[in-house]
Amino acid sequence: MSRVIVIGAGLAGLVAANRLADGGAEVLLLSKGIGGLQLGQGTVDVLGYNPQRVTNPIKAVAEVAAEHPYATIGAQGVLTALGYLKELVPDLLVGDPEANYHLPTAVGALRPTCLAQPSMLAGNLKAGSSVVVVGLRRLKDFQPELIAGNLGRTELPDGGRVAARAINVDIAAREGEIDSSGLAFAHAFDVPAFRQQFADLLAPLLKDGEIVALPAVIGLKDRQAHSDLAAKLGHPVFEIPLPPPSVAGLRLNQALNARALAAGVRMVSGVRTVGFAADGDRILNVRNATVPAEREYRADAFVLATGGFEAGALAMDSYGTVTETLFGLPLVGTENTPLIHGDYWGAEQPIFSVGVGVDSQMRVLGNGKPVYANLRAVGDVIAGSTRWAEKSGDGVAAASAVLAADSILKEL
Ligand SMILES: Cc1cc2nc3c(=O)[nH]c(=O)nc-3n(C[C@H](O)[C@H](O)[C@H](O)COP(=O)(O)OP(=O)(O)OC[C@H]3O[C@@H](n4cnc5c(N)ncnc54)[C@H](O)[C@@H]3O)c2cc1C
Repeated sequence: MSRVIVIGAGLAGLVAANRLADGGAEVLLLSKGIGGLQLGQGTVDVLGYNPQRVTNPIKAVAEVAAEHPYATIGAQGVLTALGYLKELVPDLLVGDPEANYHLPTAVGALRPTCLAQPSMLAGNLKAGSSVVVVGLRRLKDFQPELIAGNLGRTELPDGGRVAARAINVDIAAREGEIDSSGLAFAHAFDVPAFRQQFADLLAPLLKDGEIVALPAVIGLKDRQAHSDLAAKLGHPVFEIPLPPPSVAGLRLNQALNARALAAGVRMVSGVRTVGFAADGDRILNVRNATVPAEREYRADAFVLATGGFEAGALAMDSYGTVTETLFGLPLVGTENTPLIHGDYWGAEQPIFSVGVGVDSQMRVLGNGKPVYANLRAVGDVIAGSTRWAEKSGDGVAAASAVLAADSILKEL
């Protein structure tokens, strides 16, 4: 069995590790920490804005500019990855690659996304719906009045509006606790008796035909928690993801990690990968910064899934020079100076698009050819997209990971 090392445990690293293990490789996943999944919404954005709001992400993917990673990955690559993601976590992600959902956020705006959790879907609102946004008095990260106010003012993508009102329910996640975190409420909602107690408090406050919006804390482990609560209330219920740490993001992170372990992926977490050795155009090993001596890991192929600036994969020094911090790879997009301009409300900051350039197998390019024949790059470290603004980071991460894994499996 051939050995592949994946460095980084965000969405890109986890998808690559799963795909490689499913294809029969012996996979070692190295990560210095958790990735960005639990900071996010627990959904998979493929393309939300281009710069107009996107309704059909696959159609929009086929029309991106030549320097965008999707131009290399292709619409078929994205379709394959979305299908694979849905297979990886079948009870957690649903959606149609040809139709974005538009789901309410924690400030009551509508956010386009491609795959979402079943517990969020009733939030894909139709004109004329009535929504009641329910706050939990002891959860301060969710403001129902703000959400209902903005939702009522927002025009839906296909025109039309919804009616929205706010109410609050006082229930303790843990006995005697005045303020509780989203995670504490999620653990509480995992327990059927707590759901019954909550439903008994809320049901008398609901009006006929209302759709119930709740913070995304309706259980962390129990996948039936949402449908059970909706049945107890006799109303459609949807969850609105909270700011980090996001329970919805935690669910996705935990499910992908559990799937990887079940597929046989070995994981070494909590230690930074700091160096490597190469022979000509092949990487031989990488080294982790363990104490008292660095630990060496050898493999036949390597996947760089270390993220972007936020994860430390890219860094800028005080002279404005940007580097890829592990392999010292050549970067694309650094020629667009200044990389950061002072007009913060104006044009996109060029620095957001900096990263490594890749070929159709996700091999990192330098002077038009692969720098190392057995090194692929996936996810945020790839150049050419402004992931947070156009809402493309998750799609690029998943699709580049599947392409990289498949091309490695063909070679092994
Ligand atoms: C503020 C912000 C908002 C965003 N909003 C959106 C959005 O709305 N929609 C969207 O689609 N995308 C968004 N993105 C992008 C999205 O977070 C990512 O595209 C996606 O989660 C994939 O990330 P990744 O796996 O490439 O990297 P990450 O999730 O960052 O994971 C990187 C992994 O690499 C590890 N690592 C890094 N360096 C090393 C090292 N030397 N040794 C070992 N391990 C290492 C880290 O510990 C981590 O496990 C946003 C990003 C930011 C920063």
